[in-house]
Amino acid sequence: MPKNWNSRTALVHGGARRSQYNEVSEAIFLTQGFVYDSAEAAEARFIESGPDEFIYARYGNPTVAMFEERMALLEGAEDGFATASGMAAVNGALVSLLKAGDHVVSSRALFGSCLYILEEILPRYGVEVTFVDGTDLTAWEAAIRNDTALVFCETISNPVLEVIDLEAVAKLAHEKGAWLVVDNVFATPVFSNAMEQGADIVVYSATKHIDGQGRALGGIILGSREDIRGPIETYMKHTGGAMSPFTAWIMLKGLETIDLRVKAQAETALALARALQHHEALTQVIYPGLDDHPQAALVKRQMGAGGTVIALDIKGGKDAAFRFLNALEIALISNNLGDAKTIVTHPATTTHQRLSADQRAALGIGDGLVRLSVGLEDSDDLRADLLQALAEA
Ligand SMILES: *Cc1c(COP(=O)(O)O)cnc(C)c1O
Repeated sequence: MPKNWNSRTALVHGGARRSQYNEVSEAIFLTQGFVYDSAEAAEARFIESGPDEFIYARYGNPTVAMFEERMALLEGAEDGFATASGMAAVNGALVSLLKAGDHVVSSRALFGSCLYILEEILPRYGVEVTFVDGTDLTAWEAAIRNDTALVFCETISNPVLEVIDLEAVAKLAHEKGAWLVVDNVFATPVFSNAMEQGADIVVYSATKHIDGQGRALGGIILGSREDIRGPIETYMKHTGGAMSPFTAWIMLKGLETIDLRVKAQAETALALARALQHHEALTQVIYPGLDDHPQAALVKRQMGAGGTVIALDIKGGKDAAFRFLNALEIALISNNLGDAKTIVTHPATTTHQRLSADQRAALGIGDGLVRLSVGLEDSDDLRADLLQALAEA
């Protein structure tokens, strides 16, 4: 596989493995096991298996390996391990690298299930976790200690879209010899340079932009060959969070178009954010690609674009937000993101319902806040839909 391919080429051809039939489209190897030519060959493979020698689908599979290699090329990582869901990837990355007595520092504004692992599960096994405001570099610096083993963050927080300075946090983590593990879903693999900016491990929920068409759950852990084929593969293959070959095939097809899709979605998101920016029914439009975003300069440097998600703060709280959601004709009320279909979510009553009102307030999640994941529909149609629904709010 030529290493000098640009990402658009790698996304179409990267990782390809062809059977004796020389098929054009990637084959789905829907098999759990693999036959050995002899007892000696079986013995040899259990001692050491090469990159195209498989043992059991919980450990690896040719279709899954294609997806792992294509993702590694896109992210600029040496290797990857594909998982059954985004959460299997987050859990696998954290648990495989940590042990009792370790200290972890994490940003506080996290996807609900990520927060659950860090706040509830890891402490049960003797891991101490300190939470910080991810945008405050002095807080990171104060919290990362000599005995800190791992630093975790989501590069863009959900749903208020605060951006974390990866280069700066990586530097602080590495000074203390800690791993930096990054959940990069909101940045998307298209706008990510996270490995280059210092992340040791990058994790994605492939359920979002990688599938991009709302079909399957999946995830991936990306990093150095030593970390991936060492502690991470060992943990994942024994605990059963592997991606199915059928899912890997869906994700491979998703990757063929991800660059086109995500760039088109980000372009529409910017146009919509600008069109709504000073709307009288809104107190605020939050979009990392707008010049008035508090970290606009960091966004330009770190990602080059604002991503595919916008947050709108609607005047009039929950009632007005619900009137807005219910009046939309194109945007769907759901809770996925990165989909071809535009999706609208009211975090306070759904994804962040479990939190207390005080916790929500601390994260900036008011009752009027609406998260908009911008899809692939026509930008003018979406603008008209949002404007007519805002008139109802
Ligand atoms: C969706 C999401 C996850 C979890 O992914 P699943 O595929 O649903 O398990 C983790 N982190 C972030 C930031 C997400 O958006």
